[in-house]
Amino acid sequence: MAGAAVNRKPIAKSPRDWRVAPNLLDYERTRAEFSWDAARRALDGLPGGGLNIAHEAVDRHAAGPRRDRLALRFLAKRGAVRDLTYARLAVLTSRFANVLTRLGVARGDRVFALAGRIPELYVAALGALKHGSVFCPLFSAFGPEPIRQRMTIGDGRVLITTAALYKRKVAELRSALPGLKHALLIGAPEEIRALPGTLDFNRLMDEAGDQFAIALTKPDDLALLHFTSGTTGTPKGAMHVHEAVVAHHMTGYYALDFHPDDIFWCTADPGWVTGSSYGIIAPLTHGVTSVIDEADFDAERWYGILQDQGVTVWYTAPTAVRMMMKVGVEVVRKYDLRRLRFIASVGEPLNPEAVLWGREAFGMPIHDNWWQTETGGIMIANYLAMEVRPGSMGRPLPGIDAAIVHRGKDGAVAEVDAPDVEGELALRPGWPSMFRGYLHEEERYRKCFADGWYLTGDLARRDADGYFWFVGRADDVIKSSGHLIGPFEVESALLEHPAVAEAGVIGKPDPVAGEVVKAFVSLKAAYAADDALRRELLGFARKRLGAVVAPKELDFVAAVPKTRSGKIMRRLLKARELGLPEGDLSTVETGTEAL
Ligand code: AMP
Repeated sequence: MAGAAVNRKPIAKSPRDWRVAPNLLDYERTRAEFSWDAARRALDGLPGGGLNIAHEAVDRHAAGPRRDRLALRFLAKRGAVRDLTYARLAVLTSRFANVLTRLGVARGDRVFALAGRIPELYVAALGALKHGSVFCPLFSAFGPEPIRQRMTIGDGRVLITTAALYKRKVAELRSALPGLKHALLIGAPEEIRALPGTLDFNRLMDEAGDQFAIALTKPDDLALLHFTSGTTGTPKGAMHVHEAVVAHHMTGYYALDFHPDDIFWCTADPGWVTGSSYGIIAPLTHGVTSVIDEADFDAERWYGILQDQGVTVWYTAPTAVRMMMKVGVEVVRKYDLRRLRFIASVGEPLNPEAVLWGREAFGMPIHDNWWQTETGGIMIANYLAMEVRPGSMGRPLPGIDAAIVHRGKDGAVAEVDAPDVEGELALRPGWPSMFRGYLHEEERYRKCFADGWYLTGDLARRDADGYFWFVGRADDVIKSSGHLIGPFEVESALLEHPAVAEAGVIGKPDPVAGEVVKAFVSLKAAYAADDALRRELLGFARKRLGAVVAPKELDFVAAVPKTRSGKIMRRLLKARELGLPEGDLSTVETGTEAL
């Protein structure tokens, strides 16, 4: 694969860049000495070998010296701030667990939530875990059909939502959801009373007791149900268990470098796995403070939050970074971001240009890391104390064995030892946050495994030093004249041109080459889409990538379609280009709601 776009010089790190003693200082040694048993011992556990996420995230801090520390700080859209200490969070989650018990909800029942990033959502998530029921977040911008589909697959028994969302999206579905026994609404009492078949969340909370004996869940008991964001088809419900908290805690420590005094901001919505694994659970298990912003992306608002809240560790997504890049580095300079010490990104490949922009804008590279809904936690990462190779996802976490494999025609899987060979990214199963199934889809789950490997469906390569480089989703990879081309590489090259804001690249069927590379580009505000610029961009890409890999065609678009979790929807670009059915569109982003 031509690599001009990704052959950026590594960014070395020195102790001056760290600001704190990094949790992962000696990579090889930490890996060699790591054991999951030791990682488990970093947590409390429950009597009789039990384990419950809510105990590790909330109750153990509420019962200890961190009880008065701020656990969650909510920034409402219009400026109000609501703080919950660990002690207060323990009380509210106990009340919610009591509410579920009073309603007759059984352990293992599914509790869904459909809400923006408001305190009640976080209380419901942790309260449901405390109660022993299974929490399933839905993204609040979903329309009725995706809600119905997911609640049906997930056998939703309880739904927590706002009165406004219920009225707009759920009321019409109610008869199609016979399994939904309780709809708990947040809102004004009169408004809720006017909606038949619903209960008042706040009233139930006011009536509930402050004490709850936490469910003595076992490590393998189901805790969370996460629907994948569906870039490639119908949503699958990935099942996660309480033991996942061991990986959340460990990866928070090594990949996000949590230290006890950190102020952490994960910009992901809890509707997606990042927003629950790292937007809720991991920082709480470390007793750090999380900032949660209810509002959608706005560069100045975000810099204001980083400054005013004194954010030290920031976890965001490539789309957000690209949007910030679009606004320009001058805006960042207006803010005092000296407390910020570590930035990480996930969800999509982080273009080398974006990694470097981080250094220009914030004085530090953005650390890409890789994982999926199915893995439950970060698997491959760039670390604070280690060199960053722009365009690389980094190296596997301690306790994680990752490899590049080739699948034979007979289904056998062979590990590729040589460096820089593309193949499928595979992981050795057995880490605690590994998904335990797709709900009701045993066969789909089984197909993810072969010869002792979990096959991720992503193509990647590993360099001689063990850094992994993302090539593309197996479904997105382009085959042109016998060459395998990863769209990410082409998109990254285009993004290096000053006019380009976003790029999405697909393979377009071609009678000669099999497929040719076609790019869709949205421009920064100061640039006009015309033929001269089109030719310039095609030439620019050819110079960087070579004629084989560079796009042959390029269209300008107002915006590149993305999922609500920020992933470029190449499937949709392709369907539109070819006039094919567009498939499941429930996760297509309409604004910038969920970065
Ligand atoms: P989801 O399960 O919806 O979170 O999507 C997971 C998929 O997102 C992965 O399988 C990758 O295709 C992609 N992804 C996530 N993080 C990265 C990353 N750092 N680099 C490249 N692709 C990523």
